[in-house]
Amino acid sequence: MPASNFPPSDGTHFSTRPAQFEGEVCALDEKSLHGAYQSLESQGPVTRLRLAQALRAQGLSETDPRLGACLSAWGEDQTRALSFADFKKALALDERHLISRALTNQLVSGHFGSFKQRLSNVFAFAADDHQGEIAHYIPELRRADPEAFALSVCTIDGQNFSMGLREGDEAAQFCIQSTCKPLNYALALELLGEDLVHRYVGREPSGQGFNEITLDRRHRPHNPMINAGAIMTCALIRPTQNVDARFDYIRRVWGSACAGQEPELDHATYESEKATADRNFALAYFMREHKAFPPEADLHDTLELYFRCCALKSDVGALSLWAASLANGGVCPLTERRVFQGRTVRHVLSLMLSCGMYDFSGEYAFSVGLPAKSGVSGALYIVVPGVCGIALYSPRLDHHGNPSRGIAFSKRLVETFPWHVYAPVVQTPLS
Ligand code: GLU
Repeated sequence: MPASNFPPSDGTHFSTRPAQFEGEVCALDEKSLHGAYQSLESQGPVTRLRLAQALRAQGLSETDPRLGACLSAWGEDQTRALSFADFKKALALDERHLISRALTNQLVSGHFGSFKQRLSNVFAFAADDHQGEIAHYIPELRRADPEAFALSVCTIDGQNFSMGLREGDEAAQFCIQSTCKPLNYALALELLGEDLVHRYVGREPSGQGFNEITLDRRHRPHNPMINAGAIMTCALIRPTQNVDARFDYIRRVWGSACAGQEPELDHATYESEKATADRNFALAYFMREHKAFPPEADLHDTLELYFRCCALKSDVGALSLWAASLANGGVCPLTERRVFQGRTVRHVLSLMLSCGMYDFSGEYAFSVGLPAKSGVSGALYIVVPGVCGIALYSPRLDHHGNPSRGIAFSKRLVETFPWHVYAPVVQTPLS
């Protein structure tokens, strides 16, 4: 029995829509402008202070890069009241009509306050879960606080909020570990195309542990979401360049998907991981023995790149932006820059759905029905296509290697919101 109200009856609706494309500008009529002005005016004089409050209530901040031009036209004076004519002039610079859409509840989360409240309830529910153990096999990961818990959400319109650990706190930073795998797979697809990439890596769940020494019948790793497959996608990313250049390139792409927040290398974890990487070396030698690698790939450079990618440091805020870029078809919601082609994103999400949660992936697809990727540091992100990206951090892992609270959160999430990929068939009468 769903424990919460399903479907939401408090007006928390989502106008799921096709992902946004650069250059798309929706029409804004006089009526919407009036509606936006009136929504501010109903609370008092239309000042910049009031605007900032109204935007915050919708999950937008004054520092949002999309609002720069419009807010400078509005002026620095926080208390100057604007007439409708001045308001209209300032909003003409808001090319995406973000402000008027926010003020008239037309963003993807129309009622952001209720959305936040419901998500906070899901977060509080998951916070009660105290099961699982911190990963021990990479010594540096043992230093994490087992009770750490953080959540961040970003919609495809860039509405965002975070809870739990405060971003900027040392404890709120973690290594992304396996959550780097979808991005590296996306990069390989964009560089080489799907035919070539899948000559070297399959797209079937392996049904086995993430670091199992096994290949498919064509001597390929089963998929890019497990270690062997992720080592292979590293081998496919610009193999003729030196490792530093390849790593910088990957960090830059992370940066553009996360609105400029480039992840840094966590040196301690990198060293710790490399010093205890017998299994990953074994996987690479096993693949080389089976002539699985492309001819240009050097085994040691490939592993070096793989270790560095796993040891990139991030936080839930940045990861929710990356997940939101996926939810938005490859366009970062805050910068509106395309990072990946829609077709690439479709492939990435397909494999996250079938293979992203270790050997719990089938169970997760069944009970949660959303593309997600976890990592042994306790990082997890979930993509709700056309709606939002959600990132969590909680280092206690279950015996599959997934964050225990992340699983509790995910299950509760789809009892609270109709986001399971097959939720519509439950809500649609069959006759
Ligand atoms: N760096 C880890 C390893 O290769 C990644 C594992 C994970 O997060 O799944 O063992």
